Amino acid sequence: HVKAVGKNSFKFFDKTLNDNAIANLKLEQKLKSAIERGAFELHYQPQFDIKTKRLIGFEALIRWYDDEQGNISPVVFIPLAEATGLIDKIGKWVITQVCKDINTLIAHTHANIRVAINISTRQLCNTELVKTLKESCEVHQVSPTNIEVEITESMLMDDIDEKKQLLQSLQNMGITVAIDDFGTGYSSFSYLKDLPVNTLKIDRTFIQHVCEQVKDEEIASGIIALAHSLQLKTVAEGVETQEQLSLLAQQSCDCCQGYLFSKPLPLIDIVNINYDGIRQSTN
Ligand code: C2E
Ligand code: MG
Ligand code: MG
Ligand code: MG
Repeated sequence: HVKAVGKNSFKFFDKTLNDNAIANLKLEQKLKSAIERGAFELHYQPQFDIKTKRLIGFEALIRWYDDEQGNISPVVFIPLAEATGLIDKIGKWVITQVCKDINTLIAHTHANIRVAINISTRQLCNTELVKTLKESCEVHQVSPTNIEVEITESMLMDDIDEKKQLLQSLQNMGITVAIDDFGTGYSSFSYLKDLPVNTLKIDRTFIQHVCEQVKDEEIASGIIALAHSLQLKTVAEGVETQEQLSLLAQQSCDCCQGYLFSKPLPLIDIVNINYDGIRQSTN
């Protein structure tokens, strides 16, 4: 297509657009049937307190296995689900599944853990969210104090008063609120002043080179200092090496999560892990 300039480049461009549209449509159909067939699974990634080395909770991460395409990443299908409205059903499924699993997780880890649920923009714009969480907790006899919601900064850009109310009702139930991927969004700091937030999750992109790049180190320590001055906790995402962990410990980061400890795992695998062992291996 090197020669495809002028008029032809438009054709080429159109074809690409078209191909993308067709691929998205196909994926949307697949997603619809995946919802109907219940083709999703949740994996759980443990989170630890850096100081005490105790397990404090898990983040629930959705997985979709498609017979044709194999594993399809949530990075691909969550935005599509958002755009098509399918996220409403998927989001409800995630909340219900977490509530079904939570008491098993507590029983097997012998800890009063929290499970973090990723909430998408559309879910946060809907008052159904509070109702769904409340009902799910009741039906499955889960304490809301064992649940955390993860939202991103960009979700807080508009209708701030509505979001404040919604987050406040969650907090009143006992659910904690974490800002996911902190530092990568476009929002201002003012929401930290006005909104009921408990935790900042330092984005993986800052952790990745925290030991080699002075700027990343400064950003991480800056986020931790900001969080602590506002009485918020910090979780470092994507911790992969002992060196990163040591540096984060030095900076008084509260909690950590990443491949150094464990990948996200299916419930069945979590149940077979001895968490006392993991605790010691972080020494
Ligand atoms: P996120 O919420 O920021 O999740 C963290 C991502 O980092 C996960 O990718 C996790 O598997 C990955 N990760 C954890 N530790 C490490 C590490 O040490 N190294 C590296 N390289 N990666 C690590 P995953 O599971 O592919 O999820 C990607 C994104 O998809 C999530 O980012 C979240 O935004 C979205 N997502 C996942 N599950 C759900 C869900 O149930 N609902 C919604 N709305 N979004 C979800
Ligand atoms: Mg998350
Ligand atoms: Mg994250
Ligand atoms: Mg992230």
